[in-house]
Amino acid sequence: MKITTLGTSHGDSTYCRFNSSTLYETGAASYLVDCGAPCEALLCRKGKDNSRIRAIFVTHMHDDHVGGITEMIKILEKYPKPGQHTSIFLPERGAAEALTVWLSAMHIPVKPELIGFSLVTPGEIYSDENISVEAYPTDHIPKSPVKPVTFAYIITEKASGKRLLHTGDLWVDFHDYPEILTREHFDLLVCEATHYKQSTAAPLFRKTLADRLIFTHIGNEWHGEGESRLLGLCADFPYPVAAAHDGDEFEL
Ligand SMILES: [Zn+2]
Ligand SMILES: [Zn+2]
Repeated sequence: MKITTLGTSHGDSTYCRFNSSTLYETGAASYLVDCGAPCEALLCRKGKDNSRIRAIFVTHMHDDHVGGITEMIKILEKYPKPGQHTSIFLPERGAAEALTVWLSAMHIPVKPELIGFSLVTPGEIYSDENISVEAYPTDHIPKSPVKPVTFAYIITEKASGKRLLHTGDLWVDFHDYPEILTREHFDLLVCEATHYKQSTAAPLFRKTLADRLIFTHIGNEWHGEGESRLLGLCADFPYPVAAAHDGDEFEL
């Protein structure tokens, strides 16, 4: 599987980093986790074929994770190829209807032959010949009256049997760090790096049974010269750690 961290910033764009979106490619298909703006433009700069995007998994309905979805839908519908279809997984009830109204206001009708919406619920939400995806509840919006509305995603690549977990955003005290990471082996952990203190998180990171950690959704303090401080704090973790930049490519 090839992984491209398209946008790697937190809630604000910065000079070098845009909002969250990560592309996972395997076989002839590709999948997005989150679609922060300007996701479609970053795919264009990387020369990606949008018609291959089978599914978009949104971790939660904060703008920096879903703000690029209207442009993405517009482009998917504008240049369709035979057999193309993209399933968009949104984690809040009513989000698909609201999005459809906003698209309609911009004169973009949703074409069901190309775009489908599904509500995320805990457990397996997607499977095709390439991957299966499990939604794992987190608690990034703890004041939400409806639970759960924020999710990590566990993606299993069927050809290799390799498995990764993409956390999405977590809460500031790190209580919703997916506990499965300390019980089961993962080939890769893709973890946000904005909302919590590294000193709070380090004991759980050290217990995590992953072969590798890639930080994305990078907080301001770790941008630029801060990156070496971040990696220094992780120097005793039992696996290699990287801080992603916009457009970086990794192999699983
Ligand atoms: Zn965020
Ligand atoms: Zn968020």
